[in-house]
Amino acid sequence: MNVADSERIKSLLLRDGYQETAEPEEANLIILNTCAVRKHAEDKALARLNSLKHYKRKNPNLIIGLFGCIPSLYGEKLFREFPHLNILCGPKGIGKIDFLLDKAKNGEKAAALDEKDGFFDDRCLSAGKNKEALLPIMQGCDNFCSYCVVPYTRGRERSKPSSQIIEELRNLAGQGVKEITLLGQNVNSYGKGLAEKIDFAGLLKLVSKIKDLEKIKFMTSHPEDISQNLLEVIASGKKIEKRLHLPVQSGSDFILKRMNRGYSAADYKRIVQKAREFIPEISISTDIIVGFPGEKEEDFQQTLKLLREICFDSIYAFKYSNRPKTAAGGFKEQVSEEEKERRLQEVFKVYRERVKRTKEALVPGAF
Ligand code: SF4
Repeated sequence: MNVADSERIKSLLLRDGYQETAEPEEANLIILNTCAVRKHAEDKALARLNSLKHYKRKNPNLIIGLFGCIPSLYGEKLFREFPHLNILCGPKGIGKIDFLLDKAKNGEKAAALDEKDGFFDDRCLSAGKNKEALLPIMQGCDNFCSYCVVPYTRGRERSKPSSQIIEELRNLAGQGVKEITLLGQNVNSYGKGLAEKIDFAGLLKLVSKIKDLEKIKFMTSHPEDISQNLLEVIASGKKIEKRLHLPVQSGSDFILKRMNRGYSAADYKRIVQKAREFIPEISISTDIIVGFPGEKEEDFQQTLKLLREICFDSIYAFKYSNRPKTAAGGFKEQVSEEEKERRLQEVFKVYRERVKRTKEALVPGAF
């Protein structure tokens, strides 16, 4: 989603006559588009912002903008902490970029942090070099997983009307785009709150009809919202990639409940089994968080058990990161950094062993 936002910012600037440069010394405008989902990403972005002071000293007319979830989370106090900053813009404010730049050029501090704008017009998006494009079909999230900052930075869930999505996709296809990735924090709940009666399976069917598109990908799916109808559409759609990114986060029911994920480990296994029955060639990837507050050794062992049982095609594993505004930020029983690191390495080890065993089983004559 962050990459898609960066593409959108770039497209708007190119439309306004800006040109790209790889040399910060040559730039009149530098925008950092930030992610706040983990503390580490935030620290890196703010360190980078600090280092831009140097360019501002050399070129006092340089405009520096901080975009994305960090401004949305911390607001205008960032102007005080980083006086060389001219613009603050949250993910919902990108459509106001012209207004923000005009203000900044007049020497004013400009901010768009709490924009209520429904949906952006992505017709300005341009085709990537490889005939691929990312298209957000929805914004925000209503799930409020207890560790996640997204509902506070990107706001509540809003779906883009299907007619707008189709028009934007036709426009991209007209520019030569062959492969599209439909994006949302939880694409499976697409359509909730729209006046039209449509769900994600219905949208995939509509998108499949666009003649010049050859491949349709999507991410991310929440396990709770995977319907049989959706699996059938994925199975039968010739252009639809047979891949599900299905974050499980933990194998412990106790931890899943504390995370407010809305499913148990057994529910998750059933969903994976069903997906593999319907679509035998499906590739399934997942996200795992280790060291969530209150995660005891026995909870962690449940996660390893799940990893041994389900052979994922890929995993993304992270140490829990305490985020402001989230419910889990206030939970007691935080796990030490040292222990989180040990668990993270253990997850990768078990995953590698599982993949190795599966590959060996595929070698002819191995048995
Ligand atoms: S589903 Fe949970 S983890 Fe994913 S964006 Fe929504 S709140 Fe965050």
